[in-house]
Amino acid sequence: MGRLFGTNGIRGIVGKDMTPELALGIGMAAGIHFGGTVAVGRDTRTSSKMLLDSLVSGLTATGISVIDTGIVPTPCLQYYVKTSKLAGGVIITASHNPPEYNGIKCVDSLGMECSSEDENHIEALYFERKFKLSGWDSLGNLRQADAIPRYIEDIVSRVDGEAISRRKPKVVLDCGNGAACFTAPDLLVRLGCELVTLNAQPDGRFPGRLPEPVPANIQELMRIVKETKADVGIAHDGDADRVIFVDDKGEYIFGDKSLALMAGDILAGRGGIVVTPVSSSSCLEEVVKSRHGEVHYTRVGSPIVARAMYKLGATFGGEENGGLIFPEHQFCRDGAMAAAKMLEILAHHREPLSGLIAGLPQYQLYKTSVPHPPGMRDAIMEQVRKRTAGLKVIAVDGVKVIHDDGWVMIRPSGTESIFRVFAEARDKEKAERLAREGAAMVRDIIGSLEAQANHSSSK
Ligand code: MG
Repeated sequence: MGRLFGTNGIRGIVGKDMTPELALGIGMAAGIHFGGTVAVGRDTRTSSKMLLDSLVSGLTATGISVIDTGIVPTPCLQYYVKTSKLAGGVIITASHNPPEYNGIKCVDSLGMECSSEDENHIEALYFERKFKLSGWDSLGNLRQADAIPRYIEDIVSRVDGEAISRRKPKVVLDCGNGAACFTAPDLLVRLGCELVTLNAQPDGRFPGRLPEPVPANIQELMRIVKETKADVGIAHDGDADRVIFVDDKGEYIFGDKSLALMAGDILAGRGGIVVTPVSSSSCLEEVVKSRHGEVHYTRVGSPIVARAMYKLGATFGGEENGGLIFPEHQFCRDGAMAAAKMLEILAHHREPLSGLIAGLPQYQLYKTSVPHPPGMRDAIMEQVRKRTAGLKVIAVDGVKVIHDDGWVMIRPSGTESIFRVFAEARDKEKAERLAREGAAMVRDIIGSLEAQANHSSSK
């Protein structure tokens, strides 16, 4: 059996991996898996309608009724599934990937990305091809619905709209020609912002910029924020479940900083649990502890973070890539909710965003990697665990060794024959030293494993 689902659903290149046959098969498998009415949606990609039509064909063939919400952000579809009490949802999107990609993501009845058990079930149905199809008189029907107004309404209700409209922040919004075009401008106008939009016309060729809001792709936003003396810049990825901010000086704010800033604001006066992948910066932990909260670390992947938050009753959670989860709104990353929250924080403080970010604890990250012979991954990992056994470690994903003044994390890449080693400390030299020591240990382990293998083969 092959593995279709990765960390974030099924992804691939259109016409190669992402074909109408695949979408049709997943539609039939998901129809049988969910067994009740399903909502579907898509992003702005040129291939999304083609794949959606195939998917809907498969779903309705199994007798499942389908509600098509059109082009929507992934979290908007998730909110619709949850609040309409549907059996599940499926969205066609490749999130932040370039235009030649597309993907399929399945959502359960709670609006959360499907668990790996659910995905395995859908995948098993897909590969076994034992689809029980409906006859002419029991096919599912298809209807359209507008999922957007209720979604925006809910976000508006969860922030201090009065304070935001009083402050009337000047915002430059970069929709990146993605699904955010259909929600983000409306939301910001509703909140009383003075708005300048960039790339706000939906276009699956992404003529304005690539969908991932990394610094290289949002240079124009950074420049315009500075030139127009705006209070903040906001950039979404292709399906608007993530958001990246630019401060009033036109500086890119990395996701670890916005995560920590929001955690501090949300936990103030009430504490609580914050869930984040084990690779997250100590900046977050320091802020959370100062608010009498605690951090719970998980493996990397937003569905894992969301599910842990649900189980633990967490107050807040998220990842360093700008994927932030607000459990009172819903248990998934939501770029629009995060943008609204950031505007509320700005409205509640006199300081500009650059000042609020400067007030956060400062840490330096240093990354390196060590290539290894194919097939040696598990043996290396076992040795890393043995050699770090006496130290203070968190071993939920690779090994993270905690030192008094920093940490080093050693974990194998999921896709390449390399071990990633990254370290964080208060100063750059210390971070670099920790990372180099970690990398040296991995190289040493590889050397002794190779020596062992040569020794036993020459015997
Ligand atoms: Mg995304």
